[in-house]
Amino acid sequence: MSFSLTPEQQLLKKTAADFVEREVIPHRAQWDRIEAVDRAIVGKLAALGFLGVTIPEQFGGAPLDHRGYCLLMEELGRGDSSVRGIVSVSLGLFGKTVYAEGNDEQRSEWLPGICSGEHLGCFALTEPGVGSDAGSLVTRAQRDGDDWLLSGEKIFITNGGWADLALVFARSGGEGPRGITAFVVPTDSEGFSAAEIKGKLGLRGQATASLRLDAVRVPDRNRLGEEGRGFKVAMAALSRGRMSLAAGCVGVSRGCLEAAVSYAQEREQFGKPLAAHQLVQEMIADIAVETDAARALTWLVADLADTGERIDLAASKAKYFASETAVRSANRALQVFGGYGYIDEYPVGKYLRDARVTTLYEGTSQIQKLIIGQALTGVSAFA
Ligand SMILES: Cc1cc2nc3c(=O)[nH]c(=O)nc-3n(C[C@H](O)[C@H](O)[C@H](O)COP(=O)(O)OP(=O)(O)OC[C@H]3O[C@@H](n4cnc5c(N)ncnc54)[C@H](O)[C@@H]3O)c2cc1C
Repeated sequence: MSFSLTPEQQLLKKTAADFVEREVIPHRAQWDRIEAVDRAIVGKLAALGFLGVTIPEQFGGAPLDHRGYCLLMEELGRGDSSVRGIVSVSLGLFGKTVYAEGNDEQRSEWLPGICSGEHLGCFALTEPGVGSDAGSLVTRAQRDGDDWLLSGEKIFITNGGWADLALVFARSGGEGPRGITAFVVPTDSEGFSAAEIKGKLGLRGQATASLRLDAVRVPDRNRLGEEGRGFKVAMAALSRGRMSLAAGCVGVSRGCLEAAVSYAQEREQFGKPLAAHQLVQEMIADIAVETDAARALTWLVADLADTGERIDLAASKAKYFASETAVRSANRALQVFGGYGYIDEYPVGKYLRDARVTTLYEGTSQIQKLIIGQALTGVSAFA
């Protein structure tokens, strides 16, 4: 792994950083207060090709590599995790899964709209009674001639109320992970409804919804992958998702570092800048070291993806470390700010609230440790 960037990667990083300064940072506190990101952001993200990074041009994408993808996610995460999540889910969990698991007909049908921002995707795995133990999900998929009828409930679905296409995991056969199949469901289908979830601790601007499927008719050609392979589709999608989430967490941590350094240089106590107090420097040094370590773990996943190697173990390590780092960094940055960190005039309180969910979604920190432990020992602690 090398830390140098190609000219294309440098350009993408700069374009993303400029975009965040112009289109995200001036609005993020207001979006957080009113609990709604301006939906016009989707078209702006698409106009720069951000909703198609890594997808081949023939399907409407921008064929950049995964290091570039991580650079983009880092910049968006530094700006606003609610905005980063729109891309992470529509492109990362929906689009990249259609590309990886779909046939050419399915790729041609759904990917151009996702890459152009005309359509948004969501990823619907979690249910009210089933979170970490996703292999036990109960949403039903029942055969009806050439179609399927999907019924059930999904919860905490990012982009859920905004999405045009939902990747829904449903039980088409017997018990356990082998009875699950993946389907692409247009959200304007009869029997499909979404209800926004408000009052989140963080990611307040992000559209999070619960979904209800009431005998939603889906043609068999919308099945993504073989019958009974849905759990594997979901787990592979989450490994790719953990890479983008880890990169977003690096962005949060870097944002915390920049804010803490700048504030510590400006504010004085005891007749000298906060930065001149050794215990403040210690907090800043800890944020800096952990941010770099999280980035290195994340870029390792990107490099494995670009060379076609397995990413699951590396993705779990990166997601676990980067998400816990984002929470620690935001907490330390808030400490550097003192009482001013506790009001939303400064970004660190929002960074802390937004970071908190990253140790929960796309597999909690406990689940990442079990995946890592299983890979190292050959023993599953899940069963
Ligand atoms: C803002 C937000 C957005 C989300 N977006 C999406 C989305 O787009 N799509 C989607 O499908 N889901 C989404 N989720 C759901 C998320 O992935 C789940 O919340 C997460 O997987 C945890 O499931 P749970 O909340 O049911 O917790 P539970 O599984 O009930 O876990 C509760 C606690 O028990 C621990 N635990 C559980 N099992 C074990 C075990 N075997 N060993 C040790 N500890 C264990 C967990 O680590 C956790 O600490 C989102 C959630 C939030 C909050």
